[in-house]
Parts: sequence; structure tokens; C-alpha cells
Amino acid sequence: MTCKNCTSMNQKRQFPSKGELTRFLRRLRTLVEDGRIVEFPSFTDLADVEDDASWPDVIECQFGCPDCGTEFTFKANSHHNKAPQWLPKRAKLR
Ligand SMILES: [Zn+2]
Repeated sequence: MTCKNCTSMNQKRQFPSKGELTRFLRRLRTLVEDGRIVEFPSFTDLADVEDDASWPDVIECQFGCPDCGTEFTFKANSHHNKAPQWLPKRAKLR
């Protein structure tokens, strides 16, 4: 079952390059502004993640789809040699 609202976001992604990540973050911001994806209070505010990559060392943002309840985590840790990740967590069956 796919949710029309968040189908473009509900697969796991990694961002090995800054360009890809920047494009993704722009899209994410647009979705949050439109209310299609809701930002939850979490360790990092999306607003603190700047497009120019002058980021906090450790980022962890939480989001959710208001339609289907899928939760998403965006995380990055510049102390670890690992690409930033976008991780969907499917909603529990209701
Ligand atoms: Zn959804």
C-alpha cells in the first residue's frame, strides 16, 4: 500500500554527495512548508540545517506524514565516515 501524500519520500536514501543532499533538503523544506510532511520536535530543527552545509556536526530530524503516519528520520553525523541518511519507518497497522 502506498500513500499518495508521501510516496516520493518513503524510501530509504543515502546522500553521498552534497549536491544530492542539497536538492533533497530543498524538496523536503517545500513539503514541510506545504504541510505535506510535518516536522516533529527533535534533536535538530530543519531550520538549523543550512543549504551551504555549515551544519551542526550531529543532525537528527524527525518528520511524519499526516496522512498515513509514516515517520521519517533524517540523520547525519560528521564524526562518522558515513553518508547522511533519510530513513522512513512505516506506520504500524491500525
Ligand atoms: Zn503518507
